[in-house]
Amino acid sequence: MLEVKNITKRFRGLLAVNDLSFHVNKGEILGVIGPNGAGKSTTFNLITGVYKPDNGEVLLNGENISHLTSDIVCKKGLSRTFQVTRPFGDMTVIQNVMVGAFLKTSQLRNAKREAMQMVEFVGLADKANSVARTLSIIDQRRLEFARSLATDPSLLLLDECLAGLNNREVEEAIELIWKVKASGVTLVVIEHVMKVINAISDRVVVLNFGSKLKEGLPKEVMSDPIVIEAYLGK
Ligand code: ADP
Ligand code: MG
Repeated sequence: MLEVKNITKRFRGLLAVNDLSFHVNKGEILGVIGPNGAGKSTTFNLITGVYKPDNGEVLLNGENISHLTSDIVCKKGLSRTFQVTRPFGDMTVIQNVMVGAFLKTSQLRNAKREAMQMVEFVGLADKANSVARTLSIIDQRRLEFARSLATDPSLLLLDECLAGLNNREVEEAIELIWKVKASGVTLVVIEHVMKVINAISDRVVVLNFGSKLKEGLPKEVMSDPIVIEAYLGK
């Protein structure tokens, strides 16, 4: 479904992503892990058109999307959440999610209906009319999730959407991710908590210093001494 081919991104002298290649199969959850600064978020930014790669290309269902802007990429069915959530703070929850829905429909009524469905889906129905900036961390993440789902993606990229949650909240979030997968959405999940990656991923890609260190089944990857060292060596 998605093919990342030899992408490279430099920020001045810094090689943030270095000749990186991997693919995502339709229907799977691909886990992406790696130490802080490994290039995970930059990779999402390159896939979704926030940044342009210096080299290489990104193919979505065989189409080169490397030079498209992120709104066009989103219209093609590729949506994402941001590591640092960015709700429109002065708008309500439902209004925020409608912004996502408007990418797929131009009718107010449809957007409102779609948005309400997503708000219910992520468990925010009782706060639909709350102003976004008053939400707790978990509720802001729910909102971010609902807003990206409202664009009706076929491929959804989640960037550390479980960070800062307690154990019970993590369990709830995992349930939500399963529900999204069951509805036919393919997912790429950046996550720090190994237990979570182990539980939800069909395959895992490990990044280190902008390059792919390892790729394989969760168990294989987690037990590899090179991967363990990349984490503990910090
Ligand atoms: P990760 O998400 O794996 O923690 P990032 O992709 O955020 O890593 O960052 C990879 C490297 O690129 C880091 O060294 C980071 O400081 C740098 N970087 C990321 N975005 C920018 C930017 N917009 N300008 C300059 N450096 C950046
Ligand atoms: Mg990151």
